[in-house]
Amino acid sequence: RKSSPAQTEFYQAAEEVLECLRPLFKRSPHYHDHSIIERIVEPERQIMFRICWTDDAGRVQVNKGYRIQFNSALGPYKGGLRFHPSVTSGIIKFLGFEQIFKNALTGLPIGGGKGGSDFNPKGKSDGEIMRFCQAFMSELYRHIGPHTDVPAGDIGVGGREIGYLYGQYKRLTGRYEGVLTGKGLDWGGSIGRKEATGYGAVYFAQNMLEARGKTLEGKTCLVSGAGNVAIYTIEKLYELGAKPVTCTDSRGTLHDARGIDLDLLKELKEVTRASLESYLEKHPEANYIPVGEYPEDGHAVWRIKADAAFPCATQNELTAADAEVMLHNGVYCVSEGANMPSSADAVDHFLEAKIAYGPGKAANAGGVATSQLEMAQNNSMEQWPLEKVDIKLKEIMANIHQQCAETAEEFGEPTNLVLGANIAGFRKVADAMIDQGVV
Ligand code: NDP
Repeated sequence: RKSSPAQTEFYQAAEEVLECLRPLFKRSPHYHDHSIIERIVEPERQIMFRICWTDDAGRVQVNKGYRIQFNSALGPYKGGLRFHPSVTSGIIKFLGFEQIFKNALTGLPIGGGKGGSDFNPKGKSDGEIMRFCQAFMSELYRHIGPHTDVPAGDIGVGGREIGYLYGQYKRLTGRYEGVLTGKGLDWGGSIGRKEATGYGAVYFAQNMLEARGKTLEGKTCLVSGAGNVAIYTIEKLYELGAKPVTCTDSRGTLHDARGIDLDLLKELKEVTRASLESYLEKHPEANYIPVGEYPEDGHAVWRIKADAAFPCATQNELTAADAEVMLHNGVYCVSEGANMPSSADAVDHFLEAKIAYGPGKAANAGGVATSQLEMAQNNSMEQWPLEKVDIKLKEIMANIHQQCAETAEEFGEPTNLVLGANIAGFRKVADAMIDQGVV
């Protein structure tokens, strides 16, 4: 830890996993004999590169690029690309580490990877985004391939960016192949991929609640974020009869007690790329809380009274103080669309209160699972209908929930899906590593 102070989020993620593995190691000491912990926390490969591109004023800009190929025991590396100014090698390492166990939980043959850049897409023209994506792929293309490493989107990387990245990959290699997922529906994308992470997080909540004899119908829900995951979480919540009343972006929190106007949200975030504040132009009765007015120890969104919560923005966006208020307000279900959105102390509060808590590596695995379905469709030159993709997504989310719940039960903590997810995911990867020898 002393040697790498910049890897705070990675240590946070690793500590959680390692804590959960204690009872497993007591029962199965052979994992020690194979030095699995030492091997699993060390990425197979980390690639860092320079990205040079020209802005609209003709100035040369330089950014940092990353791809971490963390673990390939179960299949080709798979995990998204994040473009955000907060991206560092430590952030990519934490995301890649989480991805290993998440991908294992899907039951599909995919290893763990992640990548991105400290490039800030905000305020950039379409031409600048395209030139940046082309420059990024000009280096990345030599490290990826449809059977080695298949990146996807994440924060700041949506359909537009995947298009520019894919076009450049094709130009450089001359190959039309499934090297990226989240592609456009006319050029190799899977129907239902865009929606999958958000829909999956809601299916996961549904599974958790069903196990407790409850449903989402009529429930008031808090959602954070206003991007890909948040939008399709809100869409699925409406479909299941729930009422999502909030969303957030990096500038503030929107609270519409009658329920978020989803069409307007899509227009603002998918088309005009505007701030959430402009929602008030059409709905002046809604409440907008700018970041400057957030409580000192947390975030405005989690202080609103509700039944269930879906953090869908970014890591550590839900503090211990937020969790305390949520529990006090009666929130009894938290399903994480984002990666590690709850701080370690917040997670402790949820586990102590024994509410239905679905950690990101289980609850948001629907996105990567559907990405693997996109790879399967690309390999067979097919495109499946929405019904087929959605049925598979539902099955995968139900299976993940079942694995987590059964493993939690096996280790004597039936409500602790964090324990269940970490042990179930770890066991698959560790067993595959042992089978494959010391490599
Ligand atoms: P998007 O870029 O589409 O949306 C991200 C949203 O979160 C935006 O509303 C953004 O606000 C907000 N946000 C980002 N960073 C911050 C921050 N530091 N503080 C406050 N708000 C912030 O990303 P996604 O929806 O794809 O990803 C959201 C989360 O879900 C991430 O944790 C990601 O890793 C995770 N995830 C995504 C998957 C996918 O398939 N896309 C799969 C699994 C997990 P603004 O617009 O103002 O920047």
